[in-house]
Amino acid sequence: MSHNTPKRLANFCAGPAAMPTDVLARAQAELLDWEGRGLSVMEVSHRSAEYVAITKKAEEKLRRLMNVPDNYKVLFLQGGASLQFSAIPLNLLNGETADYLVTGTWSKKAVKEAERYAKLGLGEVNQVASGADSKFTDVPSQSAWQLSDNAAYFHYCANETIHGLQIFEPPKVDAPIVVDMSSCILSQPIDVTKFAMIYAGAQKNIGPAGLTIVIIREDLFGKVSEWCPMLLNYEHQAEKESMSNTPATYSWYLAGLVFDWLEEQGGVEAIAKINAQKAKLLYDTIDNSSFYHNPVAKEYRSIMNVPFTLKDSSLDKLFLEESEKAGLLNLKGHREVGGMRASIYNAVPLEWVEQLVDFMKKFEQTHG
Ligand code: PMP
Repeated sequence: MSHNTPKRLANFCAGPAAMPTDVLARAQAELLDWEGRGLSVMEVSHRSAEYVAITKKAEEKLRRLMNVPDNYKVLFLQGGASLQFSAIPLNLLNGETADYLVTGTWSKKAVKEAERYAKLGLGEVNQVASGADSKFTDVPSQSAWQLSDNAAYFHYCANETIHGLQIFEPPKVDAPIVVDMSSCILSQPIDVTKFAMIYAGAQKNIGPAGLTIVIIREDLFGKVSEWCPMLLNYEHQAEKESMSNTPATYSWYLAGLVFDWLEEQGGVEAIAKINAQKAKLLYDTIDNSSFYHNPVAKEYRSIMNVPFTLKDSSLDKLFLEESEKAGLLNLKGHREVGGMRASIYNAVPLEWVEQLVDFMKKFEQTHG
């Protein structure tokens, strides 16, 4: 390694998360002088032809990667996934009842926000079931769900980032399905047609924070509340091609580079195989030891976020100190769950997970 080769350590952060090194290198190469223009992408008008070309290409690539049909709009918004918790009822509740499944912190926040709009008279919010009794390590069986008749939509979170709980197949319900895919979008092939709306904050599998993706079927338009802020109005943003105001231009550009990178890796199907290998390696290591533990029901174990505890939690601090010294970063679990969490998004290569597993085995040998 030459002295000026940048040091890139194994980063397991839950988000903002590791970016592919090749993407950062390309952004760096283009930073000062973008394609011979003598300026950076972040220094041009979002309405300029050259910037609009970037956004069009980013959308085309995302549509290709996810196989998004033409009757869906793809929006590149701001405010994070959390602002969608408000935008969804404002656009879709329309005096009706919406069903919400609660399987962890994020879906709980989504229902709480929707309830605020219900209180304002925008409609009703019905929590169909909650996994709280299992401390969000399991999903209540669908036979016990209290679904409403003719719900305006059914909302759930496909991957609970904090609890490491993933619902791999959309539930079979009659209502249009709205899904939070913030921490699993582009990690596995999905059938977009099974959903009415998919949304995701970018800062895990797509790019830097500041950008939020919304993929919405056009027939959901026309139900928006008169109280909906213009910037949260999906139909309006679709008409304005996500440029009702100044978008997160640089994050959008970087997302486009990540989509290029993902296509170079062979697309979502190819990355899904690597993701499965990474997750298996880590869960096998946990399950084959009596020192580490993951509490999530096996069929719902996330392939993106792997929380685990140590048998003796007084060793947590040492585990974190030593793992950091070994070049394994950001393994501290979320305060709600404790212990450790390894987020192994698309940009985390198999080698980093191998390094982590080696470290875990050695740590167990020494302290187990
Ligand atoms: N949903 C999920 C599943 C998340 O993981 C997060 C962030 N960690 C959010 C929503 C909230 O995202 P944001 O911070 O972009 O609002």
